[in-house]
Amino acid sequence: MIERRFIPEAVLHCLSKLEAKGFEAWLVGGAVRDLLMGQTSTDWDIATSATPDQMLDIFRHDLVIPIGIKHGTVRVIFNGLEVDMTTYRVDGPYHDGRRPARVSFGSSIHDDLSRRDFTINAIAYHPTRGLIDPFHGLQDVQDRIIRAVGEAKARLMEDTLRMMRAIRFVSVLGFSLDPLLEQTIVRYASSMDNLPIERLGIEWTKLLAGKKAAHTIAVYMAVLKATLPSSAEAKPYLAWRSVYKNESEPLLRFVAFSLAMDLPDTWFDALMLNKADRRLGRTLRRLYLTDLGPADDAPHDVWRLLGAKVGIEPLRAYYRLNVYLTDNDKHWQALLAATDTWVEEGFVSLLDLAVDGNDLQSLGVPPSSIGTVLERLFQAIISGKVKNERAPLLEVVRLWYNR
Ligand code: ATP
Ligand code: MG
Repeated sequence: MIERRFIPEAVLHCLSKLEAKGFEAWLVGGAVRDLLMGQTSTDWDIATSATPDQMLDIFRHDLVIPIGIKHGTVRVIFNGLEVDMTTYRVDGPYHDGRRPARVSFGSSIHDDLSRRDFTINAIAYHPTRGLIDPFHGLQDVQDRIIRAVGEAKARLMEDTLRMMRAIRFVSVLGFSLDPLLEQTIVRYASSMDNLPIERLGIEWTKLLAGKKAAHTIAVYMAVLKATLPSSAEAKPYLAWRSVYKNESEPLLRFVAFSLAMDLPDTWFDALMLNKADRRLGRTLRRLYLTDLGPADDAPHDVWRLLGAKVGIEPLRAYYRLNVYLTDNDKHWQALLAATDTWVEEGFVSLLDLAVDGNDLQSLGVPPSSIGTVLERLFQAIISGKVKNERAPLLEVVRLWYNR
């Protein structure tokens, strides 16, 4: 039922290395779930009877990162593939509904599986010994159901992030919540209000990128709002539409959603984005939220100058963002089409001007005015008043400066 070819060599190698030293080792977590659904995974977790020190010793010749020794986790990297190995754990007592007060190492894979959140995430697999599935997770994978391990209310109150996790699995996997789990989440959603934004951000990132994100937002908005700042003036319909319309661009989805829900920068920053995406995302939010962005009906010249400053790709992303956030697509589609012409003409940025700041300075333009003059020249060119050639441009500057 599980296809071995979906398991990378590196993962099999970790399992056998631990076992060769006399320890138990099992594949666990999302990877087992993915394998049971007939697909490979990007995220490989191993549960083992070895302690972190023992793992560090066994893998001393490999590239090892002790990412969470306190929680028993050691990461090994083979050819760029990360494998996380964690000592069997039992979490125990939870005080504030956030994180176990301490973790202790468990003595068996059974202990380890029973502290996990949902039955579909509480299955262990070994390539020769097969599955350990004490909570009938396989059946739930087949029925596409998310069900708590043990008593729903108790498990959710131990760590309220599990409510958010359940809903993000609806979005990512397209599964349904078991009715009892769903009722409990709806009832106790407000207790998610003290969760740290970093933990929520990870789940939100995954939720918004899920294939059922729009559906999930529509159905569970009331619950999800409990995880967001109450000051935000949410527009749930806009939020749904901005996600629904936008299938292919996760970053624009995040930006559109954050704007539709009127979320602050701190919240946007909590999403797991790489540096380049975060920078672009912030620019788009700024354009939308401040008067840096021209009025929607501004003339093309104004847009073009903005494109010259921020870059054509960010400007195009801004247009697409507006397509997601409005009913009036046509206006933004037309602006988008106009940028194609600029690119064809090959004149898109201030850097494409046939003169530069040094030229202006030698004509006596004071340094503080150079930026403004370059912009004016750019505008003169795009409005057809002068050609983008050195001599005529310098002539214009001389005229402006009366020399
Ligand atoms: P993904 O495919 O998105 O990585 P995942 O199921 O692997 O999904 P992770 O957040 O990577 O999710 O967590 C790995 C495993 O750790 C889960 O499958 C689950 O067994 C367990 N787990 C993670 N977070 C919790 C939690 N808050 N409470 C209980 N168990 C958890
Ligand atoms: Mg995972």
